Amino acid sequence: MTKQTPETLIKAQIRALSSYHVPNPDNMVKLDAMENPYRWPDELVDKWLEVLQRTEINRYPDPSARQLEVALRSAMQIPDNMAVLLGNGSDELIQMLVMAVAEPGRVVLAPEPTFVMYRMIARVLGMTFTGVPLRDDFSLDTDAMLAAIKQHDPALIFLAYPNNPTGNLFSDADIVRILEQSNGLVILDEAYAPFTDASFMSRLGEYDNLLVLRTVSKMGLAGLRLGFLVGPAHWLNEIDKTRLPYNINALTQDTALFAMDHIEVLMAQAQHIRNDRSVLLDELRTLSAVMVYPSEANFILFRLPKNQGQAVFDALKEKGILIKNLSAAGAALSDCLRVTVGTAGENRAFIHALKDILRE
Ligand SMILES: *Cc1c(COP(=O)(O)O)cnc(C)c1O
Repeated sequence: MTKQTPETLIKAQIRALSSYHVPNPDNMVKLDAMENPYRWPDELVDKWLEVLQRTEINRYPDPSARQLEVALRSAMQIPDNMAVLLGNGSDELIQMLVMAVAEPGRVVLAPEPTFVMYRMIARVLGMTFTGVPLRDDFSLDTDAMLAAIKQHDPALIFLAYPNNPTGNLFSDADIVRILEQSNGLVILDEAYAPFTDASFMSRLGEYDNLLVLRTVSKMGLAGLRLGFLVGPAHWLNEIDKTRLPYNINALTQDTALFAMDHIEVLMAQAQHIRNDRSVLLDELRTLSAVMVYPSEANFILFRLPKNQGQAVFDALKEKGILIKNLSAAGAALSDCLRVTVGTAGENRAFIHALKDILRE
């Protein structure tokens, strides 16, 4: 008998993947991961720590986090007639959705470029992933989407709304056509909901196959790992069966419950970020070497002249500013970089460094 090695034991599908790489941000201005740059005011932190003193860390958490669900329902305007499923980040809910439908030959479909976890999770769980290219302006190529839907009859379609990494919203009319012509589930991933007025939350129920996915990560609680899926109970009850027990830990439940009681603090921070986004957009638009894409999210995508993306990214890093380089993600994003909207000071440091590098 020969001992197995990673080459012989690990499935080919897994070995073919490259692991999700997160750079080490020590001592950098960190504008790469769509985090909210603000902490809570000191008096709020003190109140929060009082809550955590009472957390019963020796007990298993409430397996269905009922109190937290009630708080989320009111803070996030979740329709009363819809069910809610909580996840350890929305990433876990994407995984649960895929696990619930994964069978050989079945397809997960999304426009591309988009959030990479749809593809990764589909592949890890043995499903086929089909990406439909967005148009040059990153709008949906609806005819191509509808043709792909007809051809593959996807079990799941993911639409990030606004889309990551492009920052734009797809048109409502295009989304409705996709909802109407899909036999499978269409998941509107509204991770960036705090930074836009657009949402399909209030339209749940109009289409039985519509689910809305949210997270508290981008609104200032990325460290908690909490996402939620909203939709008709007859769908969510089935998807819930793929959930590991106690997936929302006690510290997250108690902290998120506290945070929902003070949602106005997070909302004010989001509004602040929206205002700073328009300042940053205006600044970037003054640079002749830079092509800026519109954004409804807390980040901005921009393109540099041919073959300069990597060099500008490296030069920014050299100056202590970490953003995201999307150059390698395929032709559609060649020479594209993505910057998260930080504090006003961080944004100024970024613009200052960029101008310096571009000699503008
Ligand atoms: C960041 C992001 C997520 C992941 O959110 P978590 O709740 O932190 O797992 C999901 N979808 C999109 C489109 C994102 O950009």
